[in-house]
Amino acid sequence: MLTLRSKALDTVQNRKSVSVNPPSTKISDYFNINVFSDTSMKEFLSKEAYNAVTTAVKNGRKIDRAIADQVASGMKHWALSRGVTHYTHWFQPLTGATAEKHDSFFEPTEDGRAIEKFAGGALVQQEPDASSFPNGGIRNTFEARGYTAWDPSSPAFIMEGYNGKTLCIPTIFVSYTGEALDYKAPLLKALNAIEKSVVDVCSAYFDKNVTKSFASLGIEQEYFLVDEAMCIARPDLMLTGRTLMGLSPEKGQQLEDHYFGSIPPRVYDFMVDYETECYKLGIPLKTRHNEVAPSQYECAPNFEEVNIAIDHNQLLMDVMEKVAIKHKFKVLFHEKPFAGINGSGKHNNWSLITNTGTNLLSPTKNPETNLQFLSFFVNVIKAVHDHADLLRASIASAGNEHRLGANEAPPAIMSIFIGSQMTEILESIFSNKTASRTNIKATSIDVINIPDILLDNTDRNRTSPFAFTGNKFEFRAVGSSANCANAMIVLNTIMADQLNAFKRDVDLLLKKGKKKEEAIVEILKGYYKLSKKILFEGNGYGEEWVKEAAKRGLNNIKNTPEALNAYISKKSRSLFVDNKIFNEVELEARYEIMQELYVKKIDIEAKLLAQLATSHVIPAGIAYQRNLAESVKAMKEAGLSKGDTAVQIEMIKNLATHIKTISVNVNKLLQEIDKAHHLGDTHKTALGFCNKVKPLFEPIRKSSDALEFLVDDELWKLPKYREMLFVK
Ligand code: ADP
Ligand code: MG
Repeated sequence: MLTLRSKALDTVQNRKSVSVNPPSTKISDYFNINVFSDTSMKEFLSKEAYNAVTTAVKNGRKIDRAIADQVASGMKHWALSRGVTHYTHWFQPLTGATAEKHDSFFEPTEDGRAIEKFAGGALVQQEPDASSFPNGGIRNTFEARGYTAWDPSSPAFIMEGYNGKTLCIPTIFVSYTGEALDYKAPLLKALNAIEKSVVDVCSAYFDKNVTKSFASLGIEQEYFLVDEAMCIARPDLMLTGRTLMGLSPEKGQQLEDHYFGSIPPRVYDFMVDYETECYKLGIPLKTRHNEVAPSQYECAPNFEEVNIAIDHNQLLMDVMEKVAIKHKFKVLFHEKPFAGINGSGKHNNWSLITNTGTNLLSPTKNPETNLQFLSFFVNVIKAVHDHADLLRASIASAGNEHRLGANEAPPAIMSIFIGSQMTEILESIFSNKTASRTNIKATSIDVINIPDILLDNTDRNRTSPFAFTGNKFEFRAVGSSANCANAMIVLNTIMADQLNAFKRDVDLLLKKGKKKEEAIVEILKGYYKLSKKILFEGNGYGEEWVKEAAKRGLNNIKNTPEALNAYISKKSRSLFVDNKIFNEVELEARYEIMQELYVKKIDIEAKLLAQLATSHVIPAGIAYQRNLAESVKAMKEAGLSKGDTAVQIEMIKNLATHIKTISVNVNKLLQEIDKAHHLGDTHKTALGFCNKVKPLFEPIRKSSDALEFLVDDELWKLPKYREMLFVK
């Protein structure tokens, strides 16, 4: 019988490329056509409705029902003109995926005919069953119902299927009692908080014209592509998104020949196809290239306002998965699909921008505005320093656990890289040291002069989890499968909180009669001293850093369940509650859900590993053993001596050892899974899975990989790493 593996190899070799026809050779011809954009709104909405929507977006005001009816009607006409039949509220529950429930515009009328209908009520609110989504116990204490509510700050869009189109309305998702059950609701609160604190600080000290601001985000997305047939033959890839076993290929990434290499034709077709769909949805994709590992790629859009950037990233992943089906690929967003080979991340490039067009994290040549830059810069350092554990928690997940602190990945220690020039500048201003390169004299504001060279030639350190890259910070430790909202809720909340503290601190000195510039520098100096230990310029991947960080008192929390505890620490509770991002109930629920998700992921992996080891790996080992035993028997019958069969006998014994190791540990694994499920609360269960279940993966995998090395290739059933990564 043909194995799935040999079928897969055959299939992949006979793949034909799929033709792709972008609507035009000019992207600008079709960019945004599937978005209810400003232009479409002007065309399809009355002046009154248009103004209501735009002011609601600008000032966060509610839209009243009569106007909502008008907006819905305009939206419907636009959608019908684009061939849409259904609509859905589109939201981001805590499952990690996006959710949709389609309703038809079609409505039968009493006279037996039908009309297309979409009222304001259906635009503004819907009621999906909250108990079918993760709710962390909120449903038990309160009500099972939940509702989705329109977020006018993110435009409606049309999702094109192969045979139909759906109007999607971005919404938040909350329980009937008002607790957030999604990523977006708290994100919008955090973004409000940061906007307000930025405006407060800027308008009070630096620029009266600053009346609005926004946090910006550009998300670099890394992913692997594997042929669909290979995935079908690898149940672990299918069900968990990563390989649970597999011998590292002889050739991996050591030749460094994949990074920025030429893109294979089938992959190129896939990229053009999903990019086309993304452009229609207004996702401003800008770059595409090969990444470091074989079969690993990256794409990145231009940065946008955080809420939109996150919606677009969620959409991007969805579009990529759908388009991949057509091209017979599977996109792997998992943080570590292949052991021993680079993992994937999602770099979050983040900054703060004002309505006057100033990027607050961009140094300028003007000393006046540089005090503004320095204020924001140092406040970021202080915020990250004070809430490093929470930031670490915001990126904790079962998948990212394989990446953080492992080879070729940022460590689980939070630190900030700012580059040698910024280090010198901060040292000379705040520690009164003379800077060699920049010639800055101590504390004099007038000479806070940042050299031009910094603007276009910032240092790069790819091993830092949080790096300053010239005009923005890059949070690199976010996992490739994550919804960036978790990281952005935390980052923007801690920054808002920090800026509020900064304002209070400076105002206090001003009241005492200090001059503004002096007061600001004095406060920044104190912050710098307090938080300097979070700055690290060296190799974040090295062993020395782990030791050095311990000396500095920086935490290195390697596992997810423990990292998540930072969400419910006393400090984080008051941070979130004081800034009105989460209430206590929401925080507890979220903590519960994240632990639950961790447990579920490891539980599935563990059971699948046991199953694959038992039904795929051991039988291959035994079959080869049998062949060898038959060969020994034949050799003996042919009159060969014991010495002549020694090699075969040795191999049989070797196989037996590994088969035994696997079998013993699979039994242990099944017992530990059962025990872990009976530990009581979710946190204890998560710790059980982390400390008792997961460590057993290692011996099983090691012996399985040893068997893969030993066993006759013909007998091995699972596609090998080299086949998944190099056969295209
Ligand atoms: P890299 O060298 O890290 O690839 P790029 O300049 O190509 O840097 O930018 C990577 C990402 O950072 C892009 O998505 C880009 O739009 C984004 N980016 C650039 N400037 C900003 C900013 N001010 N705020 C947020 N993101 C930004
Ligand atoms: Mg980058």
